[in-house]
Parts: sequence; C-alpha cells; structure tokens
Amino acid sequence: MAPRFKKIEIPAKGQRITVKKGKLSIPNKPIIPVIEGDGIGRDIMKATRIVLDAAVAKAYKGKKQIAWMDVYAGENAFKMYKEWIPQETFDAIKYYYVALKGPLTTPVGGGFRSLNVTLRQVLNLYACVRPVRYFKGVPSPVKRPEKMDVVIYRENTEDVYSGIEWKKGTKEAKKVIGWINKTMKRNIRLDSGIGIKPISVKGTNALVRQAIKYAIARKRKSVTLMHKGNIMKYTEGAFRDWGYKLAAKEFKSKVISEDVLWSKYKGKQPKNKIVIKDRIADSMFQQILTRTDEYDVIATPNLNGDYMSDAAAAQVGGLGMAPGANMGDYIGLFEATHGTAPKYADKDMVNPGSLILSGVMMLEYLGWGKAADMVTKAVEKTIQKKTVTYDLHRQMKGAKKLSTSKYAEAIVKNMK
Ligand code: NAP
Repeated sequence: MAPRFKKIEIPAKGQRITVKKGKLSIPNKPIIPVIEGDGIGRDIMKATRIVLDAAVAKAYKGKKQIAWMDVYAGENAFKMYKEWIPQETFDAIKYYYVALKGPLTTPVGGGFRSLNVTLRQVLNLYACVRPVRYFKGVPSPVKRPEKMDVVIYRENTEDVYSGIEWKKGTKEAKKVIGWINKTMKRNIRLDSGIGIKPISVKGTNALVRQAIKYAIARKRKSVTLMHKGNIMKYTEGAFRDWGYKLAAKEFKSKVISEDVLWSKYKGKQPKNKIVIKDRIADSMFQQILTRTDEYDVIATPNLNGDYMSDAAAAQVGGLGMAPGANMGDYIGLFEATHGTAPKYADKDMVNPGSLILSGVMMLEYLGWGKAADMVTKAVEKTIQKKTVTYDLHRQMKGAKKLSTSKYAEAIVKNMK
C-alpha cells in the first residue's frame, strides 16, 4: 500500500517503479524522490535536474519524463520536521526504489554518526558503487589518464566501518581487552583503543553478486576481488574465498578464474566470459597507477574501497567529477561523492559534474541508456570546448569560467 505522507507531495502525473519477477519495471513517467542536499546541494541539484530533464526530453521526444518528488533530509528536514531525516523520507525511497541525492551536512551533536551512513544502514544499501573514468580535457596528474575505466563496488555496511569501537581507557575497552587477553591468551596493550572488523558471508555475497551481475550486463572484462587477506586471513582473506566460491556457484557458465584463463586458454580471454581475479590491496594501489587498464570492475571490503575510490578518482582529475550510488537489492540512491562545501553555498559557482554523472548512472539503472549517453557526451564536449566551472578553470589554460547554472545550460546546448 502507498505510504501516506504528511509533507511530501506526490506528483500527480507520475507512476511508481515496481518490482516484477525480481526485476525493476520502469513506467514512462517514474516518480523519483529527490533529496536536494545542504550547502552547494541547492546549486548542483537545480543544474542536474535541468540537464537530466533535457536529455530525457530529447532522447524520447516527450514519451518519457522523470516525475521528480521532493523528499527531505538534512537542514530543510530539520526546519520542517524537527528531525534530520524524517521517517517519511525513508518510506518514500523504500516505496519508489530509485532516488537522487545531493550532499548532506553531518549535524554536530545530532545523535547521528552521519546522515549518509544512516540512510545506507536503514535502507540496507550494501554496495557503494563508484565508476571512475577519464573525461578528455580534464587536467590530470598522470601521463595516460585515459587508461582508467573502472567501476568500484565497495561493501557499505561492514568492516571497521560498522562503528563497533571503544575508546582507550573506558570500562568497555578494558572489559574487551581483559576478556581477550585472559580467555584467548592474547597480549593486547591495556592502553589500546579497540575496533571490531566484522566481514560476513552474507555481506560479501551480496556485494560480489552485484558486482558480477553488473560486469555481465555491461560486458566488462574482469572482476577483481581486492583484499588484504595475506594479513587479515579470516576477514579479508575470507572475503576473497567467499567471492570466488559465489562466482563459481552462481555464475558458473559466465565466468572463469585467472588460473583457468592461463591453463586452458593460454591467457586469451574467451568471448562472453568474465575473468574473476584477486589482488592484494597494497600491490593494487601500485598497479592502478602502473597497469591501470588491467582493472575493470573491482569488488572490495569497505575500508579498501574508500581509499581506492579516491585514489582512482585522483588519477582522472579529482572528486569533482566522480559520481556514485548506494545500492541495495532493488533500491538505488544516486549521489554526489563530495560534501556540501558550505563556503560556496548558493553562490552558483561549483561544479555540478559529480551529481550530473550520478544522474547518468541513475538513467542507466532505469534502462534509459540513450539519455544517459547524451548527457555523458555533452559533458565531454563542454569540457573539451574549455567551458568549465571555477575548479577546472583554475587548472586549464585558456578556459572560460562559467557559473553552475551557465555550465548546465552549456551542457544542454551541447546535447545531440
Ligand atoms: P567538501 O564539501 O567535499 O568540500 C571540500 C572542497 O572540495 C571544497 O572546498 C572544494 O575545494 C571542493 N569541492 C567540493 N565539491 C565541489 C564541487 N561540486 N565543485 C568544485 N569543488 C568542489 O568537504 P568538507 O568541506 O570536508 O565537508 C563539508 C560537509 O559536507 C561536512 O558537513 C561533511 O560531513 C559533509 N559531507 C557530506 C558528504 C555526502 O553527503 N555524501 C560527503 C562528504 C562530506 P576548493 O575550495 O579547493 O575549491
């Protein structure tokens, strides 16, 4: 049954996305909840909606249209509901499945670790997905940035990020240390802080399954399980083992391991087979720089994924252009990867690229590939014409500086 909202207005002409036979069924006018975001969220969301609406209108000649539905989180929610994220925002995203989100301020002393973490946990968005690729013309610190084209699937709910930790000297820390030292015959220093790193079969399987499904659907070449299993055997090592096991069991006809690639196919990848390989995290940080194009889809636990997402993004020109999504079984929450940059709020100045490209991921998730390609190509063209926002302008010779809204207009003009 449709939830009853107090303050959210459901667009009259929109239709609900549903799940049929385990797949999303997308109507022509899907209702998409949108969290505008705090700070620069207001500027970049406006620009993003203009660009996405224009692409959908051009690609489908009015047959398809996004029915945006404002839902509230962060500062605007606090003003309206006296809550940072009201229950009806969670209910709306759960019910409508696909949503777009701007950045949110982490309230100090609001009882939350972070609004973003809360959204991920409450909605069980277990995969953080970050595609990282190069846009020609963007200044980069490496010689061949165009070799980068990876999609990082970072586990979103477990690992040292699960928030189970105790401060040095507290009753709890002493209790845990005492118990481990005594019962498990270990020797943890008494002046230690303690953090717990849980990695489960369930969490690993959900993530690796999504990464392999994506690789198959998009005809990618490989899925690399990135881990530090040589040291953390029962967490990161287990992640690798469970990942291989799941691949062999659930995707038997579609994947091969790297061993089989060499033993049976002499290193020549057969068509329609995805190679499943694994790499140790530290060596992968070298290789993403030195052998960039050997990596494609990467599936990895939470902490590795956090580091790798930013390191990879740095190689192609930084976070300003990096899109992201938090994905569950069906729910997709697409979001800018940077924060609220409060000093630039409402100045119509910052780069909306990260949110626009997250919108591209959203269009692809809806199956609206034509509109998605139009936006990507138009962004590329706009950068190549050297018409960019301040952040890229300061690094590009001979470029013209545009405001956020003018940049969005330029993208729309460059759309074919
Ligand atoms: P930030 O908002 O990402 O901003 C840091 C710097 O990055 C900015 O000063 C700016 O650098 C650059 N930048 C960020 N977005 C940009 C854009 N769209 N275009 C051009 N440049 C951009 O990080 P922060 O200042 O550490 O965090 C501020 C707030 O955001 C905090 O409350 C934090 O909790 C929150 N946050 C939210 C999310 C999220 O919602 N997913 C993520 C991260 C942080 P220059 O000044 O050098 O130009």
